[in-house]
Amino acid sequence: MKITQLPDNPYLLLTPGPLSTSKGVKAAMLRDWCTWDDEYNDLVQEIRRKLVRLAGNNHDDYTSVLMQGSGTFSVEAVIGSAVPDDGKLLILTNGAYGNRIVQIARVLKVNTLVIDFGEVSQTQPEKLQEVLEGDPEITHVAVVHCETTTGMLNPIAEVGKIAKAFGKVLIVDAMSSFGGVEIDAAELEIDFLISSANKCIQGVPGFGFILAKTEELKKCKGRARSLSLDLYDQWETMETYNGKWRYTSPTHVVRAFYQAMLELEEEGGVKAREIRYRENQRTLVDGMEQIGFRTLLPRSSQSPIITSFYYPESAAFTFHGFYERLKKEGFVIYPGKISLADTFRIGNIGEVYPHDMKRLVEAIDKNRFW
Ligand SMILES: *Cc1c(COP(=O)(O)O)cnc(C)c1O
Repeated sequence: MKITQLPDNPYLLLTPGPLSTSKGVKAAMLRDWCTWDDEYNDLVQEIRRKLVRLAGNNHDDYTSVLMQGSGTFSVEAVIGSAVPDDGKLLILTNGAYGNRIVQIARVLKVNTLVIDFGEVSQTQPEKLQEVLEGDPEITHVAVVHCETTTGMLNPIAEVGKIAKAFGKVLIVDAMSSFGGVEIDAAELEIDFLISSANKCIQGVPGFGFILAKTEELKKCKGRARSLSLDLYDQWETMETYNGKWRYTSPTHVVRAFYQAMLELEEEGGVKAREIRYRENQRTLVDGMEQIGFRTLLPRSSQSPIITSFYYPESAAFTFHGFYERLKKEGFVIYPGKISLADTFRIGNIGEVYPHDMKRLVEAIDKNRFW
């Protein structure tokens, strides 16, 4: 079959990455690139500079590294490269992505302490303070910004303030929030911030990226527990060889990401994007509440990224039936991911607008089978 035209997507992805991307982002992938050509490497360098500029007004102390793979690979690269053998990592968790950091640390045999706040409570800075007071061996603190499991936004400013007061290295998994929620990494003194191509920057999957304080990153030399996920080595190669990746890079994905960054600028930057996402989320929740659904989280801890809703109170409701009907209407949603309640999730990031949220609520209302 010969494809000569960009086909329309049969549905809108209301999942928190991969998400619905623009036609421009998809079209950017329609040519092949050589990985050692100057034009391609200049593009990589431009992406790295643009990412650093997103770290806040005072970004001079920051650098960025791109890493092949999905977001988890970049988290693993940071954990495996930043914490030295004699270091100790404190992980704050309240969901699957915090737990994934714990899993990574255990596989890599990193000395680890975990504070688990449960599935529906935010991380509590007071608890962090207490633990740091009691355990001076801790060298690094890791926290998830938007816990995509539930849609919870954790108070990273307060967490960071305490971690820094104790002189700890701060690692933030801002995978699902970076680019969609304003984060001043420099002001918060975040040492390593991790995100990926297919979340709020609205690119396609294939690589992750790390914003790092250059001084902290330099300390990672020789510490990595993995060859391909060696953060320092990847950075050094990009710095020394003008944007060259150590091993084959996802060229089409990188080109699409560059286009996505231009589109983010056209939209008005992160602030404007956050406003759109907040409006999407509010339109969704207002509409869903009007037709009888309830959210898992209170508004105070809810992110503008993804929302968990309780199942309707009816034995006839099945997620599968709900999912299939909505797919036929042109919307793909996400199952829940917590043990304590039956929920489903609806993401509102990507090439998605308030009118799409309105159409979704109408489709849900029309397709009641429970
Ligand atoms: C998406 C996401 C990740 C990475 O998941 P991948 O499946 O590896 O892309 C990590 N943390 C959070 C909070 C996420 O939302």
